[in-house]
Amino acid sequence: MTTIANNLQQLHARIARACAAAGRDTHSVALLAVSKTFGPEAVREAAQTGQRAFGENYLQEAVEKIALLRTPASWEPPLQWHCIGPVQSNKTRLVAEYFDWMHTVDRLKIAQRLSEQRPAHLPPLQVCIQVNIDGSSSKSGVAPTEALALAQAIATLPRLQLRGLMAIPEPAPDFHAQYAIHMAVRELFDQIKASGSTGLEQWDTLSLGMTADLEAAILAGSTLVRVGSGIFGERHYPAA
Ligand SMILES: *Cc1c(COP(=O)(O)O)cnc(C)c1O
Repeated sequence: MTTIANNLQQLHARIARACAAAGRDTHSVALLAVSKTFGPEAVREAAQTGQRAFGENYLQEAVEKIALLRTPASWEPPLQWHCIGPVQSNKTRLVAEYFDWMHTVDRLKIAQRLSEQRPAHLPPLQVCIQVNIDGSSSKSGVAPTEALALAQAIATLPRLQLRGLMAIPEPAPDFHAQYAIHMAVRELFDQIKASGSTGLEQWDTLSLGMTADLEAAILAGSTLVRVGSGIFGERHYPAA
């Protein structure tokens, strides 16, 4: 077994344990394999174990990988690509054309452009709103108090399907601190759902938790954990 296949197997066991501890069905949590900085070979190795959903942060790198792995269509069902990095408004077209999911929408202008630019032959782009849950100044994400209004506005856009919330909390010192911050996202998620606004029929996704904090995220209700180093190993960023 390759290292990646072995890591994936251990990770599935880890997710299953976290679900059991939370009293949740294992199938209620999906795994997004974050392949940023790793090449197409690494994605191929993961795909051969059955992994289908991959997350990318850097558009140029992602687009090359996606194009390369699209032909021939060797995997059924096909790979699913999630954009989880910040995107400037002049780069939205690449997201609209190449990705299945976009997790980091934090303002209406980005959402409007994605909707306008989504090619007609593709299904609607699946969208999560990124929320800046801990108020960190360095990070993108909408303020929690503005999330409902943004959700209601995005819900009217024809070529987007609004699915839920995403957050990247600052690293917390222990499990309880991780859990508390994830629960703040969960509560916001529930409040928006309870608003009964139109266009929230598929409000079902809480994109929360990474390698270091997925147990706390699952206990708080995450439905999609985004794991990179726990699958592919340590990342080496090219020198800026
Ligand atoms: C890189 C990244 C991840 C994966 O982080 P790991 O700690 O390697 O699991 C998850 N989510 C986002 C938004 C990321 O940028």
